[in-house]
Amino acid sequence: NASRIPFVVANWKINKLHADVAEFLDKVNGKVPAENVVETGIAAQDLFLSDMVRATAQSPIHIVAENVHWEDSGAYTGETSPKALKDIGAKYVLIGHFERRKFFNETDSTVNLKVTAALRNGLRPIIDVDEDMSTYAQFMDAEPSVAQVAAALAGVSVDQIRNVTLAYEPTWAIGSGEAASAVQAQKAAHLIRQTLAKLYSPVIAEQVRVLYGGSVTPDNAREIMLQKDIDGVLVGTSALDPEKFLQLVAIAQ
Ligand code: PEP
Repeated sequence: NASRIPFVVANWKINKLHADVAEFLDKVNGKVPAENVVETGIAAQDLFLSDMVRATAQSPIHIVAENVHWEDSGAYTGETSPKALKDIGAKYVLIGHFERRKFFNETDSTVNLKVTAALRNGLRPIIDVDEDMSTYAQFMDAEPSVAQVAAALAGVSVDQIRNVTLAYEPTWAIGSGEAASAVQAQKAAHLIRQTLAKLYSPVIAEQVRVLYGGSVTPDNAREIMLQKDIDGVLVGTSALDPEKFLQLVAIAQ
């Protein structure tokens, strides 16, 4: 869809040290296309984000936080303020990743608080949704959780929704080496778009980007990104490697 710019987002989780971050950025700087061709983002641990913003100052790569707190400031030891993320130059923030839901008690309601906090501070949320557990018995065929989409977006206005990206990441595909088929990924993205049409309007549903994530590699990305409702990929393991990251960006072009 010409009105939606493809988006490739790396999610490094807690996998790189300071020197690795610098080395990766050295290798990709100057090699990613302009952001009106393909947008690129890299999510990393908070403590590297300022350095990354500086290292990519001449590059269209956007820096992405992996989490954020829902209050702008105050007595919340150990959390990261959305205002501070904006202040250091982060552009996007991942919210509701499956690993946060699973290991850190992230709930639909904290996801929603974080989404509205990010938007209020001028950060763009990339909201992760996984599959509907009520269809868990046939989980390889499960649909994305419409309830997670609706809950995450509660209170998000028509103006704000344009700054939101949604990412469907089936839990069984994350880090498993087994990606959803392009057909499954398209079905899921289509259902998310239908949900956006109901929550907002059909026009808005066509404007919001929907990504697929879960064991994406340069080998399977092309078919996935060719799908009509899929605007890009959220990539963990493959995006740790600068060559593979550049290949994924080239495929998105
Ligand atoms: C992720 O963590 O968002 C992810 C998709 O990881 P992987 O690409 O390793 O499956």
